[in-house]
Order: sequence, then C-alpha cells, then structure tokens
Amino acid sequence: MSIHDPHLTVRPVRAFSDNYIWLIESPRRPGHVVAVDPGEAAPVLAELEDSGASLAAILLTHHHPDHIGGVPELLRQKGAGTADRISVIGPEDPRIPTLTRTVHDAERLELPDLGLSFETLGVPGHTLSHIAFWGHGALFCGDTLFSAGCGRMFEGTPIQMNASLNKLRALPAVTRVFCGHEYTAANLRFALTVEPSNGAALEYQTSVQRLRAAGEPSLPSTLGLESQVNPFLRCDQPAVARSAEAHAGKRLDGPAEVFGVLRAWKDGFR
Ligand SMILES: [Zn+2]
Repeated sequence: MSIHDPHLTVRPVRAFSDNYIWLIESPRRPGHVVAVDPGEAAPVLAELEDSGASLAAILLTHHHPDHIGGVPELLRQKGAGTADRISVIGPEDPRIPTLTRTVHDAERLELPDLGLSFETLGVPGHTLSHIAFWGHGALFCGDTLFSAGCGRMFEGTPIQMNASLNKLRALPAVTRVFCGHEYTAANLRFALTVEPSNGAALEYQTSVQRLRAAGEPSLPSTLGLESQVNPFLRCDQPAVARSAEAHAGKRLDGPAEVFGVLRAWKDGFR
C-alpha cells in the first residue's frame, strides 16, 4: 500500500450549500465506504441507497456542526443491528460526542479490514483540535486548507495556523487535496487580488470556471497546484509579502505575520 496509491476512489456527496462529504471506497472490501465529515445524514443515506454501499467508518476533522451533525442519524440508520460497529474516528475534543476512537497529531491510523492507513496531522488554527488525515496520496483537511484559500481562524493564532499550513505544504506535491467546502472560485478572486500576475492562478481560474459552469466540483486539488496558486501557502514568496505589506501599510516580519495580514484581509474581502 503506497502513499501514491492511484487506486483510492473518493467521491463527493454535496451537503448544505457548499459542503463536501467525501466517501472513500475501501480498496480491500468492495462496496464498503468511509465517510469524511458527514455534517448531514440525508445526502449520505441517499448516496448509500443509490450505490448499494455499506458505511464502514466515519472520519471527523473537527467539531463544527456542518462536519459532524449527521453522525448520530447515520449511526441510528446504519449502525444498529449489524455485526460490524461503525467506527467514528476524530480528534479528542469534548465537543465531538460520538467518537469511538480518538486520534492525535503524528499518529498512524490503521483500518486493516478496509485496507486503509492514514497519518493524522494536528493542524490547529481553524479550531484548536482540528486534524487532517493523509494517506494513499490523499489529504482530507476539513476546513484548514481550501483550494486557493484556507479556513477562518476561529481558535488559533496566525503562528499556529501558518505552521499547520506549512505542515500540509510539506507533503508530496502529488497529494490530492479533499477540502470541506467548494470555495475555490471566491478564493481565487482573493488570490488574484494578492497576486494579480500569478499565471498559474489565472490559468486555474479558467479551469475552475469551466468545471463550476458544468456543475462539477473544483476538487480535489493537488498540493503541487496549491503551492503555486494559494496565497496562504505562499507567505514566504516576495510578491505575496509585498502585497500584504502594501495592504497593512507597514513592514511585516516574516511569513507568520504575512499570513496574519492575509487572513484578516480575506475576512473582510467581498
Ligand atoms: Zn469548520
């Protein structure tokens, strides 16, 4: 089982207005899936009904209701009366009441029956207990990293969140990025405000517009692409630092300060 495993099949289930619940197909048990961040039960239940798949486990990245809200109903509908209990795996946090197993930073999560293995990465910033799951060439990063953007900083500091994003950026460039929301088009408008002459971002904007016009998700992205187009992964780039300094009207001392200015700038950006 390689981290570049090209065979991991992941499909999106849309929830609320712009959330994605990702369903990972087990490479070992055909017809069994793992749901990532099921904020809503109904669309997952409909997808399981359509595909005939069985829900084998649930992975949770953080405690926000739009990521965990569907878990009790899924367990009620799919967990009762079956021989295999559905594991619910996520970060240790009293705000996530349904966990059967907790994971922490830099742990290996093995799901041998399903042929799945992930490294769990602590990525504080959006929330303090936020984790990401990385394995089989795929990254499930919840609301920490979005395509061309990043999550709002509800609980962490700029230093923490910048370090979390750097941790993700250090993973292999081929890693496919499965984020929690479809925010790419709006994020690119901000990215191109920060770096108006970023050719990769301009090119990406064209392909995202085409996908969205066809009703397709812009995701997954790749870390290689994100390192070229995502200003929050580019805080060490002179063009991004210059733009943040111009916005702040002062000199900034290093990438974490640049990150803090970009994040606050984006919060007020329309
Ligand atoms: Zn969130």
